Parts: sequence; structure tokens; C-alpha cells
Amino acid sequence: MSYFIDVIIPIPISNLFTYSITEAEATFLIPGVRVSVPFGKSKIYTGIVYKIHEQAPLVYEAKPIEQILDESPIVTSRQMRLWHWIADYYMCTVGEVMRASLPNAFILESETVILKSQDVEISDADLEDDEFMLWEALHHQSSLKIQDVMGILDKKNVLPVIKGLLEKQAISVQEEVFEKYTPKLVRYVKLGDEYTSEVGLHGLLEELSRARKQRDVVMTLFSLSAKTKKPIKVSALTEESGASSAIVKALIDKGVLTEYYFQTDRIQFEGEVSSETKLLSEDQNQAYQEIKKTFEEKDIVLFHGVTSSGKTEIYVKLIQEVLDLGKQVLYLLPEIALTTQLVNRLQTYFGEKVAVFHSKYSSNERVEVWNQILENSPKAQIVLGARSAVLLPFKNLGLVIVDEEHEQSFKQFDPAPRYHGRDTAVILAHMFQAKTLLGSATPSLETFYNAKQGKYGLVSLFTRFNDVLMPDIELVDIKEKHRKKRMTGHFSDRLIEEMRETLAEGYQIILFQNRRGYSPIIECQTCGHSPQCPNCDVSLTYHQYRDQLRCHYCGYHTVMVKTCEACGSVELDTKGFGTQQVEQEANVLFPDAKIARMDLDTTKGKYGYEKIINAFEQQEIDILVGTQMLTKGLDFRNIKLVGIMNADNMLNFPDFRAHERSFQLMVQVSGRAGRTKERGKVLIQTYNPYHAILQQVSTNSYLEMFKEQMDERHNYKYPPIYRLIKISLKHKDYNKVNLGAEWYAKSLRMVFKSGVLGPEYPPVARIRNQYIKHILVKIPPKQSLSKTKEAIIKINNSFLSVKDFRSVRVILNVDNY
Ligand code: ADP
Ligand code: ZN
Ligand code: ZN
Repeated sequence: MSYFIDVIIPIPISNLFTYSITEAEATFLIPGVRVSVPFGKSKIYTGIVYKIHEQAPLVYEAKPIEQILDESPIVTSRQMRLWHWIADYYMCTVGEVMRASLPNAFILESETVILKSQDVEISDADLEDDEFMLWEALHHQSSLKIQDVMGILDKKNVLPVIKGLLEKQAISVQEEVFEKYTPKLVRYVKLGDEYTSEVGLHGLLEELSRARKQRDVVMTLFSLSAKTKKPIKVSALTEESGASSAIVKALIDKGVLTEYYFQTDRIQFEGEVSSETKLLSEDQNQAYQEIKKTFEEKDIVLFHGVTSSGKTEIYVKLIQEVLDLGKQVLYLLPEIALTTQLVNRLQTYFGEKVAVFHSKYSSNERVEVWNQILENSPKAQIVLGARSAVLLPFKNLGLVIVDEEHEQSFKQFDPAPRYHGRDTAVILAHMFQAKTLLGSATPSLETFYNAKQGKYGLVSLFTRFNDVLMPDIELVDIKEKHRKKRMTGHFSDRLIEEMRETLAEGYQIILFQNRRGYSPIIECQTCGHSPQCPNCDVSLTYHQYRDQLRCHYCGYHTVMVKTCEACGSVELDTKGFGTQQVEQEANVLFPDAKIARMDLDTTKGKYGYEKIINAFEQQEIDILVGTQMLTKGLDFRNIKLVGIMNADNMLNFPDFRAHERSFQLMVQVSGRAGRTKERGKVLIQTYNPYHAILQQVSTNSYLEMFKEQMDERHNYKYPPIYRLIKISLKHKDYNKVNLGAEWYAKSLRMVFKSGVLGPEYPPVARIRNQYIKHILVKIPPKQSLSKTKEAIIKINNSFLSVKDFRSVRVILNVDNY
């Protein structure tokens, strides 16, 4: 009898590979165990055993495996089922999902591995083009092999590039197969064996009577052991006795002390646990009861609670109940909201039951969390993490909470798997027959639509905790202010006035300026109008090199206008303004205030973001200028005023979701104001105070926004009514991309007719010498999604079998919004 295993290998090949094993191996192996296997001529990969069987592969001879790497599975069968679902739904390979799931340290590799250095600041300008590409790639994949690098740079001789990056200390290289996970060892000391008896100790103290410092160390060790009855860390001993580590070392050398090591977890909770949770208010309690009741009928519930309604406190109650049943909880939130603020809040209730899974943790730290979850350890009953935490090896999941479910960052864009964390979490929960709670003050249209359709339950909470009023929102017409010369730079007289008052009262201020304002949209300086596409509900984008206005969805284009279509003014501006400029102007207006800026530039490094948040919390900052980073569920106590510098550049962003997103952003940032007793104030500066979205923001009318936006989605055939799959083609040869995209779109049109848009260039059509073209497939509600994908895969395969197109990179992105 011959035995075989199907193995998942972390590379983008669409089939699993079959290897032969011996009978002894067959009795030993279990799905989910790692094996190292040969692949191609000389490569060795770490794979995961998927299935053990007796069918020899038909088209190739199965090679034997190299080695078995685990005694018990490190991946659960549910995980592998989830991997297959992701691969299927998001049109990628299971190997790609495997790579995204496993901490790097689990994947042993035989070739030279290139790693990105941690915590180095490299400016793009210091890098050559090739170096930049490789550096970029390492942001998406934490390690690369020489072979991968050749693929990325599209050339054979890549060593000079690697050498260059090594010299700039941007990367490091490692060689040979090795286990990357090294548990953290902590050094402990105890008295040498001969001194543990009373007599021995006495003799020792006598002996040391002239070496005062050494004697102190021994005494301290003695009293520490008596007090704690636990092993004593070297660090604790030096700290307590005030002795240097040289003295401790001298004692170890003499044999007076013995040193030993324990393996410890890197991430430890050391605070106090207070078992008392907060008492829910009447409204909160009602929402809580409603959620529980709805869960009796629905597996998924949308919890629509306004900002500062105390959603977190309700989550805490729900978590407690699930823990009492002995089940695990997954708490998903956007990466950037994963702050010490929230971690601390949960740890005061649940202590070391909370495990945090964070992309900024080292690979070793992630392995520890992985193992704790896999073992269903008491230390990982609540797993707090961003998107990728859905890929962890849960054993006994009872509840998934997706907080800020509307956040765009739940969707992964690059590399594959291009999955949505929230939607994947729903599938994961389903596999455990667990419940999913989606929470937001501003639900995404698709989620609210699902609730309206009865697919999800819906529970609302419209009052803030402590009966604090929703902030008072005032729209400031800056067109008018410009005309009356009441603007100082980008600040209206109203905003300056309110800021002055707020500072005088000792409260803090947030000024919000959207980073996206940099995109090249034409805006009339006189009336604020932006040219729109006649076919799609989006603003046209200015393309300087062709002097055209173009729509990135349907390809509509027109020559650049010379005067405003609405008011005839010739003062058309293409530039947005950024946070930096706002900060500078604020400094001039308020020279005595302490002003800081929070955006991608100021929050680099492991703790950059935390530092600013802490300083703001400690009220070391009076005015914080920032981008959408400011909106993510932060709970500050002392903010009274929020100023939105320019609402129009958000509203005019060329995306079918621009209006929905603007609403969400503005409501969320407004929600930072007045979270305690004093009612908060929000000023929104705009050229167009009558814009429906601004009216809806200022009256906090989510429902109205929802209805109006849904009409648009119906009319223009966008999600959640239609589904979208985006196909991107990339190549360094302009003609290849063009011809390829035409061929591809033509084939799609034969099947999907008018459901195909493009091919069209994105706003930046060439990035680092790669030309890009997009094709969009719109899928009507009645059209089968799986049949659509099948057809696309068929077309994709025949595309890649055309000799000329083989080198074109094709990227499939399902639900690309
Ligand atoms: P949301 O997530 O809905 O914006 P939070 O959960 O952050 O709101 O709550 C807002 C603030 O109100 C927090 O500081 C929280 O500690 C406080 N809070 C909410 N509910 C209660 C409660 N029942 N008792 C005491 N404080 C509460
Ligand atoms: Zn105009
Ligand atoms: Zn269009």
C-alpha cells in the first residue's frame, strides 16, 4: 500500500501538491501538521498537511517529503476550511491565504531570506528605483527569497540591489533552514545548593562579612524569596538590592548563587484586575437586553449606537457571558484603534485573559499569541486584534465583535488574499455557530442594508452615556467668508472665535483636515463647484499631462475646462491643502497654544501614534491637527471643539462611496467632542453648506443619508445593490498593458455585456515603471456570483495562455471597495 499527503504550500499555485509518505509517517501524520517538502528543482518549502490518502497523483510522480516538523497540528481543520473559503471567495490561492495566516516564524525556508529591518526610518528619496521596489515589497511580505526578488524586479542579477539595501541597513539576510521562533528566556537566581540550609547560610554570611555589597545581595535574595515564595528574577534582585549586575555575576562565579532560565511569554499583563464592571444606564441596559434577545433569532446583529453611547461597556457585558460559558471571544477593530487606551480598558475587567494580536508585534510575539489561542489557554480567552486576527487558530469561539465595522481598513488591498476582515469574521463565526456583533455609530451602507433586508438583526442606541447632548454642529459658509474677507488663511472668523473661547475655558481642540485633499480635483475658488462625470456620481480627476478631466470608473473624458461650468469664474484651483499648512497657520493665530499634528508623517515608528495620543490625553497639547486617524474610536475627556477645515474635498473625492465616507468621517470626528459633561461644538467649513450630506451630518440623520445614498446606488448600479470585481493589469510595457486590457475586456464583454466597465487608467497610471489598467465587472443582484467568478477564471486562464500576455500581472479584487 502507498500513502500520500496533499500539502498546502505558501506560494501562489492554484493546486495543492501531493507527496508520498511511508506507512509509519502515515500513521503519525495529522492534517494541520507542518512538513518540509521539495519543490521544483532545488527549493524546499514548509507546507501544511491538508489530507492523508492513498491516491497517487495522475500527472506527476509524487516526491517524498523531507521532514515532519510538528508532533501536533499548528493549524486547525476549521482554519483550513476558512482558508479555502477565502481563496474561493476572494479569488486567490490557498497558499496565499496560508502565507497571510501563519506568523512568519512558522514558515521555515531553505534559501537566503531577506528581511526588512525593524524600526528603521528610510526615506524613499534615499533609494534607487529597484531598491525602492524591493523595500516596498517587504512592507507587504515580511520576508522574501532571492527567487521572489528576481520576480519582483524582473531581472536576474539582483544581488547589487540587495547589497545596496544592506549597506543602507534597510534589510538583513538570513540563511539555511532554522526554526525562527525563539522563546524569550528570563534569567533567575537562587542560592547555591550548599547554602540553602540554615547552617550553610549562616556560614556564608559570616564568610561575606567583609564583602558588604555581596552580603547585601544575599540578604535581599533571602528576604525576597521569603516574601514572594516565587522564583527571583535577576532584574528584581539588582533593583531591590541596589547592587550592580557585576556583583551578582561575582556571586554566581563563586558558586554562591546559581542562575537558571524560564521561558516566559513576552506579552504579559501586570496591572490590577477590578472585577467590578460599570453599571449600565437604563438605555444601555435596554440595548444590551435587545441584543441578547435578537441573538436568539439571528446570528449576526448590527449594533447602531451613536458616538459615546458606551458601546464598549455593552461589549464587556456580552464578553463576560460568553467567557462564563467557557468560550473564546474575538474582538476585531481597525488597526489604528488598537491603542493602549482600549487594551487597558479591557484588561481592567478581564486581566490576563486578554491577548492582543498586533502587526507591530514581533514575529515571536505573534507565535506566542497563536499558540495560546491554539491551546485554548486561559491567557487568550479574549483576542483583540485587527483584520488578520480572523486568521488565528480558534478552538472554541463563542462571539465575534467587529467594532467600527464601517472602517475601510478591514479590507486588505495588497497583497492577496484581498479579504475583508468583517465579512470573513462572519464566516468564521458561522463555522463555530457563534454570534457576530457588528458595532458602529455610522454603519456601512452594506451592513445597514443587510439589517434592513432582515439578514442581520438591528439594535439601536441613540442616547449618549450620561445624557450628554450630541455636539452642536454649525456649518460655516466659507464662500461667503471669502467674499466678505473674513478668512485668515484657511480659518474663518467663526472658527477663530470659537477656538479662542475654548482655549480660554481650558478645553482642547481638534482640527480635522482630510489627507485625501491632495488628489487632483478641480475646484472653483468662487463657488466651490467640481466638474462631475455625467455617467457616474463622481468628480472628474484632472490629468495634467493630457490636460483632460477623466472619470476613473467609466472612462468618460473631456478637455480641461477653462472656466467654472457653474458660475463662470476663471479661478479654478487644483491644489488641496494639508495638515501641515493648518498646523502652521494655527501656530501663527495662537502663538501661546501647544499645537501638535497627527498624520502619517508624525506617527511613524512603533509608538509614534501612542505618544501623541498620550500627550493629548495628559492635556500637554491644546490643539491637535490631524487626518482621519483622529476619528478612530478614541475616547478623550476634555475636547470641546472640533473644527473640520474643509468638507468639500472629501465630498468631491472620485469614488462612489465618497458621500457615505464623508458622512462617516464627519460624524465620527464630531463624536470626539464633548464626551463628558459639557456639550461639544463642531464647526464645519464648506463652500456648499446646502450639500445634502452636510445637512445630514449637522442633524445627525443617518437614516436620511442611508435612503438617499441607496437611491444613488440603485441608479448607478453600485454596491450593495450590485457587486463589483476589479481586474487590474500591470506591466512595464505600455503596449502590452493596453493590448492585454483590451483583449481581457473584450472577452469579459462577450459574457457580461454591459456589466463591464473600462479598461481605464487609474489616477496614477504608471507607478515605478509599471503601467496599470483597470477593468470593473458589475454584477447585478440576480446574477450568480460563483458562476461569474468561474467565467472570469476561465477568461483569466486563457488570457495567461496567450504567449504575449503571459508576463502581464493580473490582480483580481473581489468587493474592491
Ligand atoms: P462609544 O464606544 O459608544 O463611543 P464608549 O464605550 O467609549 O462609547 O463610552 C464613552 C465614555 O462613557 C467612556 O469613557 C466610558 O467609560 C463611559 N461610559 C459608558 N458607559 C458607562 C457606564 N455605564 N458607566 C460609567 N461610564 C460609562
Ligand atoms: Zn464656480
Ligand atoms: Zn464615469
